[in-house]
This record gives sequence, C-alpha cells and structure tokens, in this order.
Amino acid sequence: MRTLVTGGAGFIGSNFVRRLLTGEYPALAGPVRVLDAVTYAGNMANLAPVIDHPDLTFVQGDIADPETVRAAMTGTDVVVHFAAESHVDRSVAGAGVFVRTNVLGTQVLLEAAVREGVRRFVHVSTDEVYGSIAQGSWDEAEPLSPNSPYSASKASSDLLVHAYHRTYGLDTCVTRASNNYGPYQFPEKVIPLFVTNLLDGLPVPLYGDGRNIRDWLHVDDHCRGVALVAERGRAGEIYNIGGGTELDNLTLARTLLDALGRDCSMIRHVQDRQGHDLRYSVDCGKAATELGYRPRVPFAEGLAATIRWYEQSRDWWAPLKRTAAQA
Ligand code: NAD
Repeated sequence: MRTLVTGGAGFIGSNFVRRLLTGEYPALAGPVRVLDAVTYAGNMANLAPVIDHPDLTFVQGDIADPETVRAAMTGTDVVVHFAAESHVDRSVAGAGVFVRTNVLGTQVLLEAAVREGVRRFVHVSTDEVYGSIAQGSWDEAEPLSPNSPYSASKASSDLLVHAYHRTYGLDTCVTRASNNYGPYQFPEKVIPLFVTNLLDGLPVPLYGDGRNIRDWLHVDDHCRGVALVAERGRAGEIYNIGGGTELDNLTLARTLLDALGRDCSMIRHVQDRQGHDLRYSVDCGKAATELGYRPRVPFAEGLAATIRWYEQSRDWWAPLKRTAAQA
C-alpha cells in the first residue's frame, strides 16, 4: 500500500508514521510519503526515529497549494489526512489560517485524490465538531454544532469530505477523536503545558473554574483507530474514536500536580477561554462493533509514561517553549 500522510511531522501524524513504519499496521505496509508544511507545530525531530527508513519520503509543502499536492498525491493508494491548524486558542486569536489550512487545504487534497484515483481517503477530524454536551454521549448521527473557529473549520472540512464522496464517488472515511495525549505533543496543549511548566517550577494556568470535561485518548489508541478505519471502515462513513476517560480540568490538574510532587498552590485560575465548550463525550459503539476498536491504554499508565517522556525529553520541548515565549 502506498500511503500519503499529511501532517506527518505533527503530534498525532508523526505517531502514526512511526508506528506504520515499524510494522504496527500490516494492512498499510509499504511506502509512506509525508506531506507537511512544518509550521510552528510541525517538527522533524518527531520523525527522527524513522527518518532513515527506506520506505519514508518527506515532502515539505502546503496542503493548500494545488501544485504541491498534485505532485505529492501521484501514485498514492491511501491518504491519511492529519494536517491542520489544531489549537483552539490560536483559532480564537485569528481564524484565517484555520480556514485556509483546514477547509481549503482539505478541499485541495480531495480534488487531487479524485484526479489521482486514490483508493481511500481517511480524514482525521475531532469530536469538537459536535459542539458541547451536558449529559450523555454523541454518536455519529449527531448534527454538527461547532462553537470555536477551530471546530467550525474542522466541521467544514468534514462536510467537504462528505460532498466529495457523494458527488465524485471518492472512497472516504472520517474519524472524530477526543482529546489526545502522549509523547511529542506540542507544549501549548494542556497536558504537556502543565507538565513542562511544573518541571520548570512554574505555575499552571487553569481556565475558569476548571469544570470543563474532556475525554482523554492516548495517541497510540487514536492512531490504531485511524489505521483500523483505513483498513476496514465502510466508504462514506464516520467513526468516533474515544479514550473512555472523562475528567474535568481541575481533576486533571490535580492529578498532574500529584504526579509531579506539587500541590494546588501551583494553580493559577485564568480568565476562561471565550466560548469554552463545557463537555465533550463520544459514543464509540460503531467503531467497536464494526472495527473491533477499543482503547487499550489505561489513562493512569498512559499519563505516567507521558510524564516520564517529558521528564526525559527536555531537549525536545525546551526550545519549543522558548520560541513560543518569544512569539
Ligand atoms: P499538530 O498541530 O500537532 O500537527 C499538525 C501538523 O500539520 C503539523 O506538523 C503542521 O506542520 C502540519 N500543517 C499545518 N498546516 C499545514 C499546511 N498548510 N500544509 C501542510 N501541513 C500543515 O496537530 P495534531 O494534534 O497532531 O492533530 C492532527 C489532526 O488530528 C488534526 O487534523 C486535528 O484536528 C486532529 N485531532 C487532534 C486532536 C488532539 O487532541 N490533538 C483530537 C482530535 C482530532
């Protein structure tokens, strides 16, 4: 199988590429081409463990550029599309680049996939497209109701994927995952931000009263779910991928403080994010029944291993935090 992975230098995409190239997804074995613009969130160090693998080709380029995409798409059987602007706070500060990358970039990829006759296009999306839910969980039939510019841009890209399936018969699948955590996550997202702040003896900024609830999904489980969808998902379908661990942000903060031997005096309550969704919760019954997907990484184990990775990987994250602080 010849696979094009967009966003393969980012947090989740690089995990997928590392695991694909080390044989964890046998159905996708074969040449892998990564297309990534290497924005502030992209990092070649994320691919360092596999960079010399003979099956890996890296193309630095923009998914919104039709020429680049056309060239990168040549000879592709399967597209796994991770590339995106992914940080909600940045979308609140400026939505334009989110629309350009997440909406236009996805459309350019879809167009090229139709032209090239790719066999399958897997679009990696998010549970945030459903909005916010006080009780219960969403299944895939839930209407889209995104609240942030980030989630609105992802919902828009999901609709384009649907349209290219219906209009041009492109074989597409959409995955909608909950909040990921694990190694190599850019230290602007809550878990690596809190862990690296605490490792530096700095306080952790908690939005509002910390009541917002997220479902936590280890990146290995997410990537295994995406691989299952690529292999066995039904064309035109959407699959939720969750982790089965819902926590409010205050509990998450306390867990991290405990793990790093700190107390609640390190918490700084900061003004809540504008339009902050209260709770996300996905029903993963469809992926379980059709694909045999179940999260395997227990949260306590996954979190402990993630903390250890950040403790041992200061060389990876310290320069990123310095650059972010200067921006
Ligand atoms: P990330 O920000 O770590 O990585 C995004 C990657 O896309 C980076 O390597 C970046 O360089 C690349 N990129 C950005 N703009 C590009 C462009 N115009 N052209 C080419 N490459 C570009 O993001 P992530 O957390 O790894 O998320 C990957 C995907 O998974 C995204 O589509 C995101 O919406 C989705 N998702 C993320 C989460 C999560 O918790 N992080 C949860 C559900 C879904």
